[in-house]
Amino acid sequence: MSQPVLIAVAWPYASAHIHVGNITGAYLPADILARYHRLRGRDVLMVSGSDSHGTPVTVRADSEGIGPEEVYKRFHGEFIELFQKLGLTYDIYTSTHTSNHFDIATKLFHSLKENGYLYTDTSKQWYSTEQERFLPDRYVEGTCYFCGKSGARSDQCDNCGHLLEAEKLIDPKSKIDSSTPELRETTHFYLDLEKVQEQVADFLRERQDYWRPNVIRQSLGQIESEGLHGRPITRDLAWGIPVPVEGWEGKCMYVWFEAVIGYLSSVVEWGTLHGNPDAWHHWWTNPESKTFYCIGKDNIPFHAIIWPAELIGIGESFDAQMGAEEPKPLVLPFDVPANEFMNLEGRKLSGSKNWAVWGLDFLERYDPDPMRYYLTVNMPETRDSDWDWEEFYQRNNNELVATWGNLVNRVLSFTYKHWEGIVPEPGELREADKALLDSQREGFRFVAEKLEAVKLRGAVQEAMRLAAEVNKYLDTSAPWFEIKTDKAEAAKSVYTAMQAIDWLKIIFSPFLPHTCEKLHGYLGYEGSIFGELITSEVEDDLGTHTVLLYEPSDSLAAGSEDIWKVSELVPGKAFNKPAPLFKKLDASIVNEERARLGK
Ligand SMILES: [Zn+2]
Repeated sequence: MSQPVLIAVAWPYASAHIHVGNITGAYLPADILARYHRLRGRDVLMVSGSDSHGTPVTVRADSEGIGPEEVYKRFHGEFIELFQKLGLTYDIYTSTHTSNHFDIATKLFHSLKENGYLYTDTSKQWYSTEQERFLPDRYVEGTCYFCGKSGARSDQCDNCGHLLEAEKLIDPKSKIDSSTPELRETTHFYLDLEKVQEQVADFLRERQDYWRPNVIRQSLGQIESEGLHGRPITRDLAWGIPVPVEGWEGKCMYVWFEAVIGYLSSVVEWGTLHGNPDAWHHWWTNPESKTFYCIGKDNIPFHAIIWPAELIGIGESFDAQMGAEEPKPLVLPFDVPANEFMNLEGRKLSGSKNWAVWGLDFLERYDPDPMRYYLTVNMPETRDSDWDWEEFYQRNNNELVATWGNLVNRVLSFTYKHWEGIVPEPGELREADKALLDSQREGFRFVAEKLEAVKLRGAVQEAMRLAAEVNKYLDTSAPWFEIKTDKAEAAKSVYTAMQAIDWLKIIFSPFLPHTCEKLHGYLGYEGSIFGELITSEVEDDLGTHTVLLYEPSDSLAAGSEDIWKVSELVPGKAFNKPAPLFKKLDASIVNEERARLGK
């Protein structure tokens, strides 16, 4: 068996459209990592789903006057359409509203309860006398008692990232009718974070050398300065997973408590759908397994503190409940490479103000790879970044079209014409040819080092630098002139360039999969590099849900070899007439796109 790699991707709330900030924050980096590790021949599983429960969904349903299930299904379908078009290779993209997820979340709840990591307590919660109901989380907004910013939700402040205790919120207002709620007593289950504080801190200390500093600051830093306190993990809400304890009817699990369990339940579902219900062990109870959590910075506390705390508390109990004879503990996160935020034209992205570039809307006018490229080269890995239409236009035309696309197109077109669609026989290569190929060969190592360290921005820049290097080589060797006097010399030049292009196809493929698949075909290869994405309907006790599934190509199927390396482009092999990989954009798009913003 190969190295298991679990790419665990943030679960979007099925209550709002997805914009470029969400894509560059979590979904795209996850896919780049997954594709890279797949090429290395590792056992990759990339999983996520729609977060279908909780107040984000019910608040939206209330405002539209429809049921929460209708809201979740609409957005779930939209997400799947977007992810398929963007080429995000989710081995499974499912939902939290499935029997499988209910079952596993319930098992984990029992594990934590039996292991003594849950307790009940009574606290004061906001209650609407008008509506005669409790108002959890997003139903109440007010001023954050840490940073003083207004518009903070009662469970978390988006401005400073702190998790909040609802009753301390300053100047609370109901989201439903803006009335001022009152505090009433209610009883909930709490996760005993104090009990696991030292273990969570140790887990973070063991990883602080290679984790991003902002993630360590928001997790270990917060534990060392403020300590951990018990947090309620149930809510007075009907939509969600019922608390599996007698007498607790009408309450459900807190959406954040159960959504993170999706990283485990989706792997179980994937195994079940593929006829191997025990497959989850390979990623979840195998100490060799590496789990990466691709998330935005607003989710750091849940992935770097709360989820590890749940996993520590569960220990071996889940495996035992699943029938293991020698139960093993669940593996803790290997890395949580959280990204910062992306702004738009110098201002904070805001969905409600329509100050956003929406994923599906963008794809109506542009191809997916230019978006993937711009979002990677501009990824907010260590600090906030900015989507700027002028820069998008420049990078598309100067880098994708002029540097990489044009390299491919002019070399393949020229060779196709003069060697009649056959890869030329180069004979003995010259020093300059060998020097270029040596340098390109090293590119695999440089780009891999960056990808292993989840430095995607640096990795794609290095790939583009390698393409520029081939252009420079061609400026000097100039086969377009060589051919007029010596076709054999020209054959050495075009063969060298085509060989480099074939390698660059692999190096670029995690970032630009759609165009690299096309190039794969132009170069005369059969089949696809990666495989394809399909959707399927799954029936269970809760109804039906759609899942997005990735079906790997033969060359990347389980047990495949490492293909992240040089391969020989065979002289004499037939290849196909190319077409341009990228479209040159007109300068007018900059003002047109800017005019759409905020409307
Ligand atoms: Zn705050």
